[in-house]
Amino acid sequence: MPRHFVGPKLVVATHNRGKAGEIRTMLSGFGVEIVSAGELGLPVPEETGTTFEENATLKALAATRASGLPALADDSGLSVAALDGQPGLYTADWEGPTRDAMVGMKRIQDELAKRKVPDTDGARGATFHCVLALAWPDEHVELVHGTLDGRIVWPPRGTGGHGYDPCFQPKGDARTTAEMTDAEKNAISHRGRAFRMLVEACFR
Ligand code: IMP
Repeated sequence: MPRHFVGPKLVVATHNRGKAGEIRTMLSGFGVEIVSAGELGLPVPEETGTTFEENATLKALAATRASGLPALADDSGLSVAALDGQPGLYTADWEGPTRDAMVGMKRIQDELAKRKVPDTDGARGATFHCVLALAWPDEHVELVHGTLDGRIVWPPRGTGGHGYDPCFQPKGDARTTAEMTDAEKNAISHRGRAFRMLVEACFR
């Protein structure tokens, strides 16, 4: 049985205001009072894990240890099958020092071209991952893992979403996730799925 969150206060282990706001919206209606690691001035832990689960867990535990409150952390990325799962844990790093998503998308396309991967659905399969870790001060951790399967398309299309969305086309859809509204993307996305799993497990 997953542990239920009785709150009311929860630290969101991020220094990104946009992400904290998104999580606030996802958990609205559950009586959760959210404060971010950024607002509390908590240190940013080094992401030394070798899986999305390990990185989400270490970020959640660092925030709960530093604050004495339950903490929620996420770790996400894009794995391209023909690139042996890369960029995976290094998805943000592939965007370069200025965190320019176009740099990351171009690098994926260049690597696929270098390996002469044909432009067919099966050959360019990719999966978005989002792991959420909810940690309590006694170091109990609940984990959920949401995924979204699709393929890499080139050139990038669409102006919505963020990050690698313009080069990612979900299975069964003719649009990239950057050509969807936020609500359409959220209904199918790795992050939307992970949040719905977490809400079912710990907040309802
Ligand atoms: P982080 O876990 O927020 O640091 O994100 C990891 C990386 O995955 C970043 O480069 C994001 O741009 C990328 N990423 C995560 N989720 C999405 C998404 O929904 N769309 C596009 N890119 C994403």
